[in-house]
Amino acid sequence: MGAITQGVSGAPHAAVEAWELSHEPADTGETTPAAENPDAALAARWRRRRLWVAAVLAVLGLAFIVVLASDAPQDVRSGVSGLGLLFGGVLAGISSAVRWHLSTDSRRRRAWACFTLGAVAALAGNGWSAIVGADPVTSPSWVAESSLVVAILLIIAGVLSFPALRRRGMELVLLVLDGLVVGGAALVMVSVLVFSQVLQGASAGGRFEALLFPLLDVALVTVATLLVARSRGDRVPLTLIGCGFVLYACSDVAFVMLAARGTFDFGSPVDLGWILGYLMLSMAAWFPSVESPEETTSLGTSDVLGTVLIFSVLLLAALVRNTAGEEAAINPAQTAMWLILLFSAGARQIILGLDNDTLRRGLERRVQEQTTDLRRLARQNEVLLTSVADGIYGVDADGRITFVNPAGAALLCYPVDELTGSRAHQAFHAPTELGSPHPWQGCYITESIRDGVVTSSEEDTYVRADGSHIPVEITCSPLLDGPTIRGAVVAFRDITQRREVDRIKNEFLSVVSHELRTPLTSIRGSLGLLSGGSLGELSPPAGRMAAIALDSSERLTRLIDDILDMERIESGTMPMNFVEHDATDLIRTAVGQLEGLSQASGVRLETVATGGRVVGDSDRIVQTLTNLIGNAVKFSAAGGVVRVSSAEHDARVRFRVADEGRGIPSEKLERIFERFEQVDSSDTRLKGGSGLGLAISKGIVERHGGRIWAESTPDVGTVVSFDIPSTTPSLTDRGAKVDDDAPLILVCDDDMGVVETLSEMLRQHGYRPLGVTDGATAVDGALAHRPAAVLTDLLMPETSGADVVSRLREEDRTRHIPIVVMSGLGPAADPLVASATDSWLVKPVTDERLASTVARVVEGRRRETSVLVVEDDAHLASVIIALLRSHGLQVAHSQTAAEAVQCAREMLPGVIVLDLQLPDGAGVDVVSELRQDGRLASTPVVVYSAAEVTREEREDLRLGETLFLTKGRVPPAELEDRVLELVDAVTGVTRGER
Ligand code: ADP
Repeated sequence: MGAITQGVSGAPHAAVEAWELSHEPADTGETTPAAENPDAALAARWRRRRLWVAAVLAVLGLAFIVVLASDAPQDVRSGVSGLGLLFGGVLAGISSAVRWHLSTDSRRRRAWACFTLGAVAALAGNGWSAIVGADPVTSPSWVAESSLVVAILLIIAGVLSFPALRRRGMELVLLVLDGLVVGGAALVMVSVLVFSQVLQGASAGGRFEALLFPLLDVALVTVATLLVARSRGDRVPLTLIGCGFVLYACSDVAFVMLAARGTFDFGSPVDLGWILGYLMLSMAAWFPSVESPEETTSLGTSDVLGTVLIFSVLLLAALVRNTAGEEAAINPAQTAMWLILLFSAGARQIILGLDNDTLRRGLERRVQEQTTDLRRLARQNEVLLTSVADGIYGVDADGRITFVNPAGAALLCYPVDELTGSRAHQAFHAPTELGSPHPWQGCYITESIRDGVVTSSEEDTYVRADGSHIPVEITCSPLLDGPTIRGAVVAFRDITQRREVDRIKNEFLSVVSHELRTPLTSIRGSLGLLSGGSLGELSPPAGRMAAIALDSSERLTRLIDDILDMERIESGTMPMNFVEHDATDLIRTAVGQLEGLSQASGVRLETVATGGRVVGDSDRIVQTLTNLIGNAVKFSAAGGVVRVSSAEHDARVRFRVADEGRGIPSEKLERIFERFEQVDSSDTRLKGGSGLGLAISKGIVERHGGRIWAESTPDVGTVVSFDIPSTTPSLTDRGAKVDDDAPLILVCDDDMGVVETLSEMLRQHGYRPLGVTDGATAVDGALAHRPAAVLTDLLMPETSGADVVSRLREEDRTRHIPIVVMSGLGPAADPLVASATDSWLVKPVTDERLASTVARVVEGRRRETSVLVVEDDAHLASVIIALLRSHGLQVAHSQTAAEAVQCAREMLPGVIVLDLQLPDGAGVDVVSELRQDGRLASTPVVVYSAAEVTREEREDLRLGETLFLTKGRVPPAELEDRVLELVDAVTGVTRGER
């Protein structure tokens, strides 16, 4: 007790929480650190105390049982009994009072208050009997009897007050029937055991008194049994209370029965019911309550338990009736009671059965409804999928198609069944332009499944069942099942029409722009003459108007130029002359062109730290720089500085144009590179320009194999940068100039003097030397430029000549390049290197031996292979020819179809590079002519056309091994690679061998 009081006064609120809210954490086996969870710690403390109390009470109860059932003298036993009653009553009263105080739920408070008062009333009654010396059997005191009646009534009220599941309708009827069965059974037992004896010889008043306690006890047993049946969450304490009161009632009935026979002795085992009843009530007060009884409802178990309990009681009553009441005749009242009992038990079971039946039917109906809902939903989804015009298919994690909608199957010309189960990527993803399949690892479906991201492609190509191609736009989303990616869903749309519209639009723009140019030239000329005053002095307003008109016509001309540039870039027809340049020269030219503009705007142009060499078209790089510097000047305030720089690193030259102008918001940094995109719609009006400049610059940089991007901090400034592949600075460039298409020879020796001498000798013999002084640079240079031959020293620090040889032989790009070793020793010194190279020069190398050796290795290829370039665009042809000649190849050029056929018949080229649109016919005519000639019918061809070649057209263009490259997408440098591969194939140079 002390412990509870201490808990209450020390931390009343926490104690209440522990009683009312704790949900028995001990049962879960969790060990929550007390410091982290004070509630758990408090509950654990209470649990420990409860165990102690239970142990003490159990020992006490056992002691009372032992003493009262023993042969100890009567006065000892009656003394112990009296002590037990007093102690039990006091303990039950105090425990109930404390529990009353600690409970927060009003119904529980009421219940425990009733128990407390009941215990007090019982104690008072027993105490009064002791004080006045009344014998409950012979001379009962009416005060004591009344107190006991009040005590039992209070206890019954308390039991009824306990919160339980709220019963409605059938449940309430069931509860009443349960009550009738229990109460009836108890009454039958009491009537059999007690009534006949009690009533014998009693007066009318005496009869009432004699029957009062047994009847009250029957009521107590009934409510106590129902309490146990109703208990859910509070099962242990309520069972303790219920059992306690049943024991109490049993003792009462036994007392009445024995007293009627005159054999009652205080201090017998009969008293145990009262004592143990008190102890059980005391124990129950130590259990915390579960907050809401509704939460722990479990109808199934309660039905079973209730049925077992009710029929046990019924069975007990029948047993008592048949054993104890044998000699007594069954009176009408007992018969009526039996009938009520049996009727109640039967009705209870029937109602329970009906209730379960209703429940089952309700459940069946709900399952049925939900199944219908599911079917409707599935149908709805199916209708959705079948109704959309776009193709939709789903794939599993392996990329196998799990479903495809009818529109998708129709677009691909496959039956749905055939597609299901096949791998989407293999089934209809078109191969690359070169005819090789797209790698599965790079496919957007793989990306989506691997990374769980939505991927899309504005333009992709699918292959139909009949082999024809269909351009599609796709979006691929991962199929997520919680955190697991189960596959992907791909939606695709046929964009044939959109592509056609784009093509027509571009063509229209191009034609209109061309047509506009001629009249515009005369307008500009005339306006120039007018405003210049050569046609007579104009009045000031007329002069102003003429100047405005002139300015506008110039803007119009620039716009048309931009549109035409854009169109040429997009169609891949912008000619580019790729030559090596000094980045500083390019920057100087661009800055020179914009000096006038910058001075007029009060913006200073600074060229800082320029350097590096690039391979590219100087006009186009200058055009890009001019656009970037022009923008920087335009969007800078007067007094601002624009800094232009270039620097070389990682085989690239990076150009930077930095200004201190208004800046570009971060969300626009990428979009400004799209056509007609401007940060502010007023830019055109206020600053001039069409919004095409950056789109053109991007196209130019990408044609060079580079990249362009912008970084900006609003109101601080903008930096636009672009990278272009660089060339390794050649030590030999300082010497005499040789033809751009002369064979390029890479010379590598750690002695710069040797490199310079050899380079000069090579130059004299008509070669283009590229000198380097270490092995690593030699390998990089060979990879970047693919020279016609490599001359290398053997003994060099770090990367030796042998390393250079093995690296060059390992790489696909360089394995076919002839290598000449220059060494102080002969080939026998390193047979391995000797076997992997083409020739060996023992130092000192004489002019003649160098010339003849280089000529032999370079000529070796030239003799074996020649290339015919059929291209009507003179600019492009010169670029391709220069690139191929630099590899020592013999290159012929034809501009027309007729010329091409004739030239091919004469020279029997190893490889033909074929443009499809020729002034006098189409490339396909050339191919069909060549097919007639047995000597040419299997010549490898690289079709290098402006337009994409369809699958059907490809068949008509095949001669020998045939590759298809599109000008817009494949720059001449890549064409060069492909031609060289074919040359290697023709000359018998295959991978890994020479
Ligand atoms: P335009 O030919 O009209 O200059 P661009 O394509 O070159 O078109 O540029 C597109 C837009 O990007 C410009 O209209 C301007 O809004 C923004 N822009 C480009 N460069 C800068 C810069 N250095 N500072 C601020 N805004 C810029």
